[in-house]
Amino acid sequence: MAEPSVARAAAEVLEALRRAEIRANRPAGSARLVAVTKTVPADRVAEAWRAGLHAFGESYVQEALSKVDRLPPEAEWHFIGHLQSNKARQAVEVFSLIQSLDRPSLADALEQAAHRRGIRVRVLLQVKVGEEATKGGASFDGVMELARRAQEWPSLQIQGLMAIPPYEDDPEAVRPHFRAVRELRDRVEALRLPGVEMGELSLGMSSDFPVAVEEGATLVRVGSALFGERPTRVT
Ligand SMILES: *Cc1c(COP(=O)(O)O)cnc(C)c1O
Repeated sequence: MAEPSVARAAAEVLEALRRAEIRANRPAGSARLVAVTKTVPADRVAEAWRAGLHAFGESYVQEALSKVDRLPPEAEWHFIGHLQSNKARQAVEVFSLIQSLDRPSLADALEQAAHRRGIRVRVLLQVKVGEEATKGGASFDGVMELARRAQEWPSLQIQGLMAIPPYEDDPEAVRPHFRAVRELRDRVEALRLPGVEMGELSLGMSSDFPVAVEEGATLVRVGSALFGERPTRVT
């Protein structure tokens, strides 16, 4: 059976994104699509590139490394998975945005890796919402702590928050989670902490990204709506 066309799916997702921006009275392009390419082979990622998608989200450093060289150097790679501190060195080389900073020990590792390379690394603080224990993320207090300690990590540019709320059949059920994250963002922003910007909100996946855009998402991470269902990972 032929794989569904990435170009067609991309056009549909982008149109739904634009409609959500309009409903929310937001300017065109204020919510950006990050194509989640975990488990997607490099040739399909290249197809997405040709369809006009230029930011890709990966959950595993090694897997991302196997694809980066097969895409144009202008491609933008975001890390969206659980990052082990011992992968920090490779991660700062590949990813232009690390969306999943959720603990001080990881900030230390990223700081050291970035400092060594003489670069600054853009990061989002991942906050845990809902009951799912497996998804990672700092508590609301943990996010506050990371933001308050930002000056300990001068090579990291904190640019906002990311969250992975639990899946719900009805996307409206996720809206309160998105709101809670936006309100936390507003609280952190109001503190005007040095080294902390809060412009980015990475919320929303295939099942709920239009709601996320209505609630202020600036980045949506969409996988299966672009590439079809993922095989279940056995490792
Ligand atoms: C896999 C994944 C996504 C994409 O999920 P879909 O439901 O396939 O759109 C988004 N965010 C994160 C963190 C992921 O791991």
